[in-house]
Amino acid sequence: MLKTRFTELLGIQHPIVQGGMQWVGRAELASAVSNAGGLGILTGLTQPTPQALKDEIARCRQMTAKPFGVNLTILPSLKPIPHDEYAQAIIDSDIKIVETAGSNPAKYIGMFKQAGVKVLHKCTAVRHALTAERHGADVISIDGFECAGHPGEDDVPNQILIPACVDKVKIPVIASGGFADGRGLAMALAMGAEGINMGTRFMATKEAPIHANVKQKIAEAGERDTALIFRSLRNTSRVFKNKIAEEVVRIEREKGPAMKIDDVAHLVSGARGRTVYEEGDTDLGIWSAGMVVGLIHDVPSCQELVSRIVREAEEIIRGRLEKMIA
Ligand code: NAD
Repeated sequence: MLKTRFTELLGIQHPIVQGGMQWVGRAELASAVSNAGGLGILTGLTQPTPQALKDEIARCRQMTAKPFGVNLTILPSLKPIPHDEYAQAIIDSDIKIVETAGSNPAKYIGMFKQAGVKVLHKCTAVRHALTAERHGADVISIDGFECAGHPGEDDVPNQILIPACVDKVKIPVIASGGFADGRGLAMALAMGAEGINMGTRFMATKEAPIHANVKQKIAEAGERDTALIFRSLRNTSRVFKNKIAEEVVRIEREKGPAMKIDDVAHLVSGARGRTVYEEGDTDLGIWSAGMVVGLIHDVPSCQELVSRIVREAEEIIRGRLEKMIA
């Protein structure tokens, strides 16, 4: 067992979180991770309405008696999103753990704290971590440049970002981006983090509610198989390097700083990306993946995965590292 301030604060067995993932963070996955002793998280905006999110929370409760959380991400979107109503649905459902992400968390952290909810704020820069801490976040999930989805605009990888963040904030920090195995967990703990957050690794599990072809693609991919899009929009996003991603990168190069979201909206929409997970053609749309695809080679159950990562980390800490001390 690995006990940290983070596991104690949230009442979970293992310091492993399954972070928010658009179209992937549904009850099947969140409950499987929580049942395995980690922290499963439902992705709020995957549900089409706040009421649908309430229903999904109720469904997840039928699948696990363990704690799980809900992710609320605030980022630019093609259609307006009623974030306040989603936040209220989370509070009304008596959820006690929320992962906020994206810009301007102050309002939502305030809303959640008032309702007695513990907030993990996921961010990509130390200065944003300090802001979230000041506004009352309970945990920082610091997300390195390796990560899937939105790595921010500073391009600082976790080898620097984790210790830089831990040195500045007082609340527990968990490390996000680039984690898939016990080596990563041991590294994060050695750097002062108190847990890890994984997304892409949990996509390639038996319980992830996505097409088997996507899981297979992740298991076969190498560390160079991701691409960065939306750089010119200052909403950088790391996605799997497929035909659509290459087309978006080509358009971005061609248009330069003059590129507008409308130039690529037909290619990048979340609705289109969703069909990848449903139909299993990995070239149909954009889908998020981290560089860590290069470290993922199998499709285990969440229970097998979480147990294996903790066992490996313990073996590294107690076995390999301790024996090096002369
Ligand atoms: P969408 O169809 O609204 O947009 C597709 C992509 O384009 C998203 O990455 C979005 O951030 C980006 N985008 C849209 N309008 C933009 C603009 N004006 N400028 C720059 N970039 C723009 O996205 P969706 O898949 O329906 O998701 C809805 C929301 O959830 C988006 O804000 C998205 O970023 C966010 N999201 C959440 C998670 C998560 O883990 N919770 C993961 C990915 C995306």
